[in-house]
Amino acid sequence: MIVVEDLHKHFGGFHAVDGASLEIREGSITGLVGPNGAGKTTLFNVIAGVLEPTSGRVLMGGEDITGLPPHDLFAKGLLRTFQIAHEFSSMTVRENLMMVPGNQAGETLWNAWFNRGAVAQEERELAKKADEVLEFLTIDHLADEKAGNLSGGQKKLLELGRTMMVDARIVFLDEVGAGVNRTLLNTIGDAILRLNKERGYTFCMIEHDMDFIGRLCDPVIVMAEGRVLAEGKIEEIKANEQVIEAYLGT
Ligand code: ADP
Repeated sequence: MIVVEDLHKHFGGFHAVDGASLEIREGSITGLVGPNGAGKTTLFNVIAGVLEPTSGRVLMGGEDITGLPPHDLFAKGLLRTFQIAHEFSSMTVRENLMMVPGNQAGETLWNAWFNRGAVAQEERELAKKADEVLEFLTIDHLADEKAGNLSGGQKKLLELGRTMMVDARIVFLDEVGAGVNRTLLNTIGDAILRLNKERGYTFCMIEHDMDFIGRLCDPVIVMAEGRVLAEGKIEEIKANEQVIEAYLGT
């Protein structure tokens, strides 16, 4: 589904991504691991259109998507989760979901000016969809809570929920398990597995928690010093000498 070919991203003379090549298979939950500073986040940002690569290509379904801005990638179903921005923290959980832009922004604006009835109808449909998403994620009891009052883990679920308001095909998750308690981590893991199995989402996730990775991800790709060091099942990765060395070296 996604092919990254010999990708480089340099910051001045520093090579944060230094010739990374990898594939993300359609229907997989691919883990991306590696020591701090390995270039994982930079790679994500290049794929998601947040950063321009120095060189190399990113393909989606064979189409060159290198350097496309996030909204074009969004329209193709490539999404990356983002932390709930500060300005949205005083809005409710349901409202946060309803804020996710659809693909027909122009039409919505037209309706807003000329057809208030249609706007009300659209809002009802969005609210219904938001409630379905919250139920799926088992946080429907939080619909009217202000987003700013959620725990870290609940916020992560809301971030995941935002990808469900649009027709996502591949979702990039950046440390969705960081700082989350075990119970919520299981809920997040269940949601990811169900989205993968029931809705056909492909995932690529940066994660540090090896148990969490082991439960969800196949394959696991290891990055070190801006390149792909190894790829395989979690057991293979854990037993790989080069991988162990890369982690110990930091
Ligand atoms: P990881 O996510 O694997 O920890 P990052 O992609 O965040 O790695 O960072 C890789 C390296 O690139 C780090 O050494 C980091 O300091 C450097 N880096 C990341 N972003 C920038 C930037 N905007 N300017 C300069 N250096 C950066």
